[in-house]
Amino acid sequence: MTLSDIADGKLAPRLGIRLDNISKRYGAHTVLDDVSLHVEPGTVTALIGPSGAGKSTFLRCINLLERPDSGSIQVAGHIIEPGKDVNGRDLAALRQTVGMVFQSFNLFPHMSALKNISFPQQKVLGRSKDEADARSMELLKRVGLEEKATQHPGRCSGGQQQRIAIARALALDPSIMLFDEPTSALDPEVGLEVLAVMRELAADGMTMIVVTHEMQFARDVSDTLVVMADCKIIEQGDPRAIMSDPQEARTRRFLRAVLER
Ligand code: ADP
Repeated sequence: MTLSDIADGKLAPRLGIRLDNISKRYGAHTVLDDVSLHVEPGTVTALIGPSGAGKSTFLRCINLLERPDSGSIQVAGHIIEPGKDVNGRDLAALRQTVGMVFQSFNLFPHMSALKNISFPQQKVLGRSKDEADARSMELLKRVGLEEKATQHPGRCSGGQQQRIAIARALALDPSIMLFDEPTSALDPEVGLEVLAVMRELAADGMTMIVVTHEMQFARDVSDTLVVMADCKIIEQGDPRAIMSDPQEARTRRFLRAVLER
């Protein structure tokens, strides 16, 4: 089984992910030091920890926005290892299987909400314009923004833009969704709209890894809480157990700091 098989639709839609011994440096600066994480299909993993811990880099390694220096990434039985070439077709298959939502929404400013969601489907999946637009409208409805279809992102609030970005990622029918602090740039009440969409996705059984400072979301929605500090995973397990009784001093310090904010 290869990543190309994913593109050819030969795989079951629900996939987990397995990262083993991932390390990453920028020059002499180590950012990830031998980090391993296994995610079961249909589960939500919340990734928390102080700024600079390596959370975002770790997430970006999963869909190869960053190439790790060592370690392996297994998506759907295909193993990606450093030094091993990943061809364009496999990379496209990986990016299709693993959708990503960023803190900054990264929408095309000159395209309507509908076109932002349809365009990648036409480019990546080869869907016709009509087919892509129909799917985009379904997704806009799903994120509660049908009425924004013809609007450009500049005419939408931050929360609406982020929901459009989620719809755009979902339009490629990913099996796994990565969220990198999706509500950090938003006012708290607007962030709630986005978190509500993410809660629904989780309830529908989407496999998700979410870097977040939203502790209530992490506690209520995630199956596994992963705490990163100083380039490593220092603690992981049941979110409620870790939040009520953290085992590591570094976790205690971090939780105190976020909860007092
Ligand atoms: P977090 O998401 O936990 O805040 P990041 O993964 O963003 O942490 O960053 C971890 C460390 O890696 C930080 O010290 C950051 O400055 C550094 N870093 C991230 N990206 C780069 C890059 N492209 N070049 C050099 N250093 C980077």
